[in-house]
Amino acid sequence: MKVNRVKVMALAIAIFFAMIGAVHADSGATLTREAQAAITPDKAIEMLKQGNQRFVSGKTVERDLLAQVKQTSKGQFPFAVVVSCLDSRIPPEIVFDRGIGDLFLARVAGNFVNDDILGSLEFATKLSGAKLIVVMGHTECGAVKGACDGAQLGLLTATLANINPAVTAVQGDYTTRSSKNPKFVQAVAEMNVSLTMQKLRDRSVVMREMLDKGEIGMVGAMYDISTGEVKFYK
Ligand SMILES: [Zn+2]
Repeated sequence: MKVNRVKVMALAIAIFFAMIGAVHADSGATLTREAQAAITPDKAIEMLKQGNQRFVSGKTVERDLLAQVKQTSKGQFPFAVVVSCLDSRIPPEIVFDRGIGDLFLARVAGNFVNDDILGSLEFATKLSGAKLIVVMGHTECGAVKGACDGAQLGLLTATLANINPAVTAVQGDYTTRSSKNPKFVQAVAEMNVSLTMQKLRDRSVVMREMLDKGEIGMVGAMYDISTGEVKFYK
C-alpha cells in the first residue's frame, strides 16, 4: 500500500514536470518537419514573444549549438522568417532566444523589401514551410536617420531610397523633419514597418495567397535597442 502511494506520488511529479516542459516548449532541440507543420502563425508569434521574454529576463535556454549543426545538416524546418535591419545590435536569433535552424533571416539596412528579398521570403514560406513573417524595425535606426536627412553616399543612396516612401508618408506636426528630431525618426521607423508589410502583400502574389488562406501570418514589430524588448504590433 505504502509503495503504491510512493509510485503514485512519483507519477504525479513526473506529469507535473512534463506539463511544465510543455508550457516551455522550447527545450533547445531543433525543429522537425512534423514540429514545424504543427505550428500555427499565432503559435509562432507566441514562441517569439516567449523567446524575447527569456532574453530580457536573462533566462535563456541552454543550447548545444554544435549538436544543432549536426541535427540540421540533413534539413531545416524554421518556423518563422524575420525581416530586420543590418544593425549589429539586433541579432534576431539572440533577441528571440532561438538556435540554429529555427529562423530564416533577411537583413538589410532599414528592413525594407525589394524583389530579391521578397523572392527569398517566398522560398522561406512557400517552399520551406515557415509559418510567420515578422517585419521588425528598431529604435535609433541609422538607416532611417539617413533617409530622414537625405544622406548620400555611393550605392547607399539607392539603398536608403527604399525608405523614402516612409519619410514622405509620415504626417503630423513635426517642426523638424530630420534625424535631429527623435520622435520624427521613430515615426518614420514605424511607418517603414507598416509600408514594408503592405508592399509585401501588394507585390508577392505567392505570399498574399498564403496570407489570405491563413497558411502563414505576418506581423510588424519594433525592437528597442535600449532594453532588448520586442514590441509586436498585434
Ligand atoms: Zn537600422
